[in-house]
Amino acid sequence: MEDEQSSQVKLLGEALPASRSMVRYLSGSGYVIRISPDGAVRRMCETVETIGIVASSSKPAKLVQQFCVYPDARRILFRTTHRAAVILKDGCRVDLRVVSDTRYAPVLRYHTGSTGHNLALEAYARRQGTQVRESGIIDPITGRQVAFAEEHEIFEALNLPYIEPELREDRGEIQAAAMGTLPDLVRYRDIRGDLHVHTRWSDGAHSITECADTAAGMGFDYIAICDHSRSMQFPHGLDASAICDQIREIEHLNRGRADIRILSGIEAGIDATGNLDIVHPVLQDLDVVIASVHSSFRMSREEMTGRITSAMHCDAVDIIGHPTGRILGKRPGCSLDFGQVLKTALDTGVSLEINAHPRRLDLPDSLCREAKGSGVIFTIGSDAHRKEHLWFTELGVAVARRGWLEIHEVANTLTGDDLIRLFKR
Ligand SMILES: [Zn+2]
Ligand SMILES: [Zn+2]
Repeated sequence: MEDEQSSQVKLLGEALPASRSMVRYLSGSGYVIRISPDGAVRRMCETVETIGIVASSSKPAKLVQQFCVYPDARRILFRTTHRAAVILKDGCRVDLRVVSDTRYAPVLRYHTGSTGHNLALEAYARRQGTQVRESGIIDPITGRQVAFAEEHEIFEALNLPYIEPELREDRGEIQAAAMGTLPDLVRYRDIRGDLHVHTRWSDGAHSITECADTAAGMGFDYIAICDHSRSMQFPHGLDASAICDQIREIEHLNRGRADIRILSGIEAGIDATGNLDIVHPVLQDLDVVIASVHSSFRMSREEMTGRITSAMHCDAVDIIGHPTGRILGKRPGCSLDFGQVLKTALDTGVSLEINAHPRRLDLPDSLCREAKGSGVIFTIGSDAHRKEHLWFTELGVAVARRGWLEIHEVANTLTGDDLIRLFKR
């Protein structure tokens, strides 16, 4: 039986839209001054147990009442004048905390966490001769508690630059802030396109035009159509002749539109020996070739590393797709000598994908961080199989940010021409 006090663990790709719906709903009540998700959602963690929301209001009880009658709420776990928790129909738990507006910034900072980050910041503050708490900072001279209007002022009071929520994981961010070496993180608005989209040509649900229309509506400059190549796993994938047909179709579509550039591509499988499941000169005519493992995941570390690095040595390959093969909640990543993968990526100029599908988020943020500064270039691909999935790119940006990546490390920030140049190296 489901434990009603604890919620089901949700993917960020589910929790983030749920938190936004709730924030929109509460903002419409007229009782909100400021409002934001906190905790794991604000830090954009790959999975989320509880959606936390902090709001400031001059009518807290009314806001709590509004929260408790949220149409998607299935059950109220508890409620007081300033706090409440509900379980949504999909099993997600949402906790609301309402404070006065003067307390909003410190409370938001505190409940954004993580616990490790908060403890490290508290230790740092103590070394500075002061104390940081949920309610603000204790002034070392007067001993009085100081509240702050904005979150960045709390960091400034500790002589630190603002630390983005995605970095607050106690992975060295406070030391980097103190030394002035925090990364200038890639932002969502830096992303010019999606580099991994499936259409009806293989196992996607929509046409190239429908996907391109959606991408153009999101403000993207380009979209790479990377349907599956034909294989045992994808019998409806493209063979060489279908790839030729699709290239012609894309050329035709590009002539008809100025709003977005459609790049031709393929997601080829990497067989157990490290060869692509399609070997044909037509691959050279494509703008983007992704090579991905879709079978035989149980291999020794040496075999799997050899398999992926062999694929990187194929001339046509531009990107290794979902490099670890993990599926969140279902399959761990395969065993890889990641140092060797990075070295080969540098030697061959092949990029590593941050696959932004909510179940994948692969590379994981920890490996992005490991690779950061190595010179390896990353690509972000939604792996959309429906046009409604294109927004997943935002989750990929979150992974990149949690991995400390900067604009020059992410290929999607390039113009279409520069991107083609990178892949035609
Ligand atoms: Zn794939
Ligand atoms: Zn794919």
